[in-house]
Amino acid sequence: MREAAERIGAHADVLKVLHYPKETLAANVLLRRDDGSLAAYKAWRCRYSDVLGPTKGGLRFHPASNLREVMALSLWMTFKCALVDIPFGGAKGAVCVDPKTLSDAEQQRLAHAWVHAFARMIGPDRDIPAPDVATDARTMAWMADEYARMYGKPEPAVITGKPLALGGIPGRDEATGRGGFMVLEALAQRLDLAPENTRAMVYGFGNVGSAMAEFLEQAGYRIVGAGDSSGAVTSQKGLTVDELRKTKRRHGSVAALERKGVRRLRSAASLIGGDCDLLVLAALHNEVHEGNADKVRAKAIIELANGPITPGGDAILERRGVQVVPDILANAGGVTVSYFEWLQNRERQAWSAQRVDQGLERIMRDAARRVGDTALELDCSMRQAAYAVALRRLQAAILASAPIPTNGDSPAARPPPAARRG
Ligand code: NAD
Repeated sequence: MREAAERIGAHADVLKVLHYPKETLAANVLLRRDDGSLAAYKAWRCRYSDVLGPTKGGLRFHPASNLREVMALSLWMTFKCALVDIPFGGAKGAVCVDPKTLSDAEQQRLAHAWVHAFARMIGPDRDIPAPDVATDARTMAWMADEYARMYGKPEPAVITGKPLALGGIPGRDEATGRGGFMVLEALAQRLDLAPENTRAMVYGFGNVGSAMAEFLEQAGYRIVGAGDSSGAVTSQKGLTVDELRKTKRRHGSVAALERKGVRRLRSAASLIGGDCDLLVLAALHNEVHEGNADKVRAKAIIELANGPITPGGDAILERRGVQVVPDILANAGGVTVSYFEWLQNRERQAWSAQRVDQGLERIMRDAARRVGDTALELDCSMRQAAYAVALRRLQAAILASAPIPTNGDSPAARPPPAARRG
């Protein structure tokens, strides 16, 4: 962010506003376990910035969650929403819990307890949670239900990622993968990728990774590797999404796929140095780092996970000429469709799948074009360009409402160099 700020000559006040989250709440969330005992979990919600609108971001249940991670993720959400130009700020929430240790009824009570603890923070015009790691449409349904009970009226726009029957929107499940694919198509020329000559590997064959793999396959790309937390498989002749999905459903991992021509890798991490043209990163953060970035053989990487490449790894890839489509652009399809869900709930409407896809395509293609143009203008990587686009949007809003200094010389009246360049 600081590097992009220097490139665009950002106003110093803007960096001060974005230096620290606007508001963070930590709470002790209590849960009555099925055996009658009481459990207590640390939980957080961070609203990083609401300068562009109500804050938006997921809620995760994870045993390694902590406040710093929540703050970092909420900053990313702020930049993501600014980049795709939807009227939301960024937020994130977490409960430090291993959901695998909880029964369904306990998870439901935990979701209710989180809403109680954070009710003063969330709201349809204030802060709108969504699913994230280990939370899903069912969790969102429980949360919306508890919120409605507390306020005595249904308020579907308080949460997105709900089941269709409760005001959810068609296409939310595959929105992140679909949006990533739209971005890839919009940047195909810059990335020098033609489907018929492109072999792709998908690191993290989960919800997002498998959706992306399906769109790639439909467009004629060859999937030559796929992996998850239990291992990976490769085949230069090609793997089908159907066989990968079936194997994962049946055996819990794509690594169980056994047939002639398929090679099994014990660790999916080997895919990072795999023989392919396009590497799709759709698992966790910090997967490509200083220790393995020089092994990457792909000429392009698309980041569908948040922060899968460390800054050190990024510098090595840039030096080696590997093009990276950055996370805040590549995975913004999820929050974009969440925005549509919020809009339809506020308008008491039900959007069609076609309307969702058309809206998503327009927003993702526009954002990809802005990033491509800005990379040329500033002669920088797509990551730097994405941050520059987002920062310009945030800067315009921050300066437009900046307090007028006592000497009468308001920052808004003095456009910074970036704004002068238009
Ligand atoms: P998911 O749990 O469905 O899939 C994650 C996949 O990564 C699984 O297949 C898992 O086995 C694999 N994985 C986990 N650890 C691994 C490891 N060490 N090595 C290899 N594979 C590993 O989750 P998802 O919803 O598909 O999200 C994937 C990523 O995309 C996350 O980083 C998430 O924050 C990000 N993201 C998701 C959305 C969304 O709409 N779901 C939106 C934006 C960003």
